[in-house]
Amino acid sequence: MTDRPVILVTGGAGYIGSHTCKWLSGLGYTPVTFDNLVYGHRHAVKWGPLEVGDLSETDRVIEVIKTYQPKAVIHFAAWSYVGESVAEPAKYYSNNVGGTISLLNAMRNTGLDQMVFSSTCATYGEPAEIPIKESTLQNPINPYGQSKLMIEKILRDYDRAYNIRSVALRYFNACGADPDGDIGEEHDPETHIIPRLLMSLTGEIDSFSIFGTDYATPDGTCIRDYIHVDDLAHGHALALKYLEDGGQTNDFNLGSGDGFSVREIVEAVEAVTGLKVPLKIGARRTGDPPVLTADIEKARAELGFETATSDLASIVRTAWTFHQSKSGSKS
Ligand code: UDP
Repeated sequence: MTDRPVILVTGGAGYIGSHTCKWLSGLGYTPVTFDNLVYGHRHAVKWGPLEVGDLSETDRVIEVIKTYQPKAVIHFAAWSYVGESVAEPAKYYSNNVGGTISLLNAMRNTGLDQMVFSSTCATYGEPAEIPIKESTLQNPINPYGQSKLMIEKILRDYDRAYNIRSVALRYFNACGADPDGDIGEEHDPETHIIPRLLMSLTGEIDSFSIFGTDYATPDGTCIRDYIHVDDLAHGHALALKYLEDGGQTNDFNLGSGDGFSVREIVEAVEAVTGLKVPLKIGARRTGDPPVLTADIEKARAELGFETATSDLASIVRTAWTFHQSKSGSKS
């Protein structure tokens, strides 16, 4: 089949998953995507085989593992809409937690013992300290974050009992697109700030609403830590290497370490595109803490993680190039 080492990538047809597959391929791995294609895109799977299936089907996962003999799993597959998770917690707990348990049991069954897990800064909820360290209390405020924290705990138990080692990567705000324009952010519905700003420029939405201008921040808008999806992909490869080298179960923040306000993002979009955003001032969105930024010293020290493309200009430029190609291909 292939003499390149295989990595099983659940959710490899999604945004961060597909960029990680491209990155892995560049490093000499064959990424095998396992995805139910509910939110993922068949066209985003370009660097290895696609197996369509649902993680809840443990036997099917076992069959895929037996076929491809992966060395490790990178586990992205999950529902990830915060608002929906509040309205439909059952959907989130059964898919995110239940799906992971099924996957872990397939790994036990086949002796596969390394996993990189896609976690989130949403596990911290409204953190007591900024920047957020890995040791900051995790206290999620919605079922999405709760489901990811539950999985982190399950992973620690599975290591203690069954010797499955894992790294949980707690992402901050993933953004940007592949610099070659092969893949990018394609959520439906799209709720994220940068794609929505770009949609307001192409007329796909009438205007862009800033969710609250009365926060206790310098310009009154929320501050987030934006990390380019390619830097995230690199972080996954480093975590894989860490496990390959015998590293113990661990968790790391992956962010840029810098914070930018909503207004600063709007300015960056206008500067890169040369266009004026049709702005509206809206109300606060429930559950948005004023500031979320990462302390990334642990990932630097233990994984050798450094960002390369997480400056706002690179983020917006790559996102804009992809967005234009996508809008063009629809017409
Ligand atoms: N945001 C906004 N208008 C939008 C979408 C997002 O003002 O249409 C703000 C949101 O309140 C937050 C930041 O942009 O402060 C990032 O939001 P996003 O949904 O992209 O990511 P999140 O931080 O929720 O994971």
